[in-house]
Amino acid sequence: MPGFKTLDDLPADLAGKVALVRVDLNLPMKDGSATDVTRVEAAKPTILELTDKGAKVLLLAHFGRPKGQRNSTMSTSFIQDAVEDVLGKEVMFISEVSGPVVEQSLGILRNGDIGLLDNVRFWPGEEANDPEFARAMAEHGDIYVNDAFSAAHRAHASTEGLAHLLPSYAGRAMEAELKALDAALGAPKQPVAAVVGGAKVSTKLDVLQNLVGKVQHLIIGGGMANTFLAARAVDVGKSLCEHDLTGTANRIMDEADHAGCTVHLPYDVVVAKEFAANPDSLRTCNVHEVEADEMILDLGPQAVEALGDVLKTCRTVVWNGPLGAFETEPFDAATVALAKTAAALTEGGSLTSVAGGGDTVAALAHAGAKDDFTFVSTAGGAFLEWMEGRELPGVAALSS
Ligand code: ADP
Ligand code: MG
Repeated sequence: MPGFKTLDDLPADLAGKVALVRVDLNLPMKDGSATDVTRVEAAKPTILELTDKGAKVLLLAHFGRPKGQRNSTMSTSFIQDAVEDVLGKEVMFISEVSGPVVEQSLGILRNGDIGLLDNVRFWPGEEANDPEFARAMAEHGDIYVNDAFSAAHRAHASTEGLAHLLPSYAGRAMEAELKALDAALGAPKQPVAAVVGGAKVSTKLDVLQNLVGKVQHLIIGGGMANTFLAARAVDVGKSLCEHDLTGTANRIMDEADHAGCTVHLPYDVVVAKEFAANPDSLRTCNVHEVEADEMILDLGPQAVEALGDVLKTCRTVVWNGPLGAFETEPFDAATVALAKTAAALTEGGSLTSVAGGGDTVAALAHAGAKDDFTFVSTAGGAFLEWMEGRELPGVAALSS
């Protein structure tokens, strides 16, 4: 595991010190108020640990995409209430991220108080990772804490630049995420299975490429399984299928072969002639029996059972992408069943299970399996880039 400091490395007393804390406060909004405060809850332990130590905490976050300009509809002042509610503490809104306004505000804040800086993306220096901009922010802080894994795939001033200018620490949420990811693909217990599903191969080529060299079992589901089946000369009817990528699919299967990675494709599937809930044309068949006017919308029960047996032989599973069109019944069946198997094996202590991806999180929640997984990442883009095997600049900067 790459070395980075955590809050454990801080002295017990931070009285008189200012902590610049990068958090993810990009909350979903409706009619001017936050509809989901999960992200604030994720940052809460870090923030309160720092205030308990007596630090003045300045929260640094982006909110929407203002593209380097002040935009009154994207001020973090809109989320001040939500942050106060979750933290159970007063938070002072500060309309800048550097300069005299921040300095004056720090003069008003007492030890253990919290300030919320305005949207860091109002300034072009943020996304440009301008060292001058980072330095102007760093002037106000004694330490930098990054608790926003979801922004760590961006090399921005608040996610990367600051880490080079101040003593830097991973916050508790960042630490938990990095530990879970390390347990999944960094130094996992073997054998490892990867479940990759979702709509398209084209969006996950780099993920597949990275995984074949790292896992013993590659389970392919969702629309992308159709492309792999087509590559093996299966007629997938009018299924979602990227026929132009069958060559790529074959290459990935060859590479897997060489690397000693078993690729698992379904041998039965759930098909229908139209994409609707519980259609009359619904049936389950062998992959070789799909009619020209049918589409594959989920894996079949035999495939799911076989995949469950694979997971039973594994110590680790990393999962991105649903196995079927899970938003529409009954095409959620395979995803729900395999998720429940993974959850039960995790509960039983034989499996470490790590999952991520927007639709994957929704699917696991729908299956009632989310809380039983070892770790479910809500980081979206950062999680996928990690699955692609990329170095995340925000994480790398903490480790340097
Ligand atoms: P994530 O957001 O977890 O990374 P993706 O966005 O890659 O996942 O894929 C999720 C989408 O894939 C879902 O909307 C689901 O309906 C769709 N999908 C899964 N299987 C199929 C299939 N057989 N045919 C069409 N769409 C599918
Ligand atoms: Mg998605």
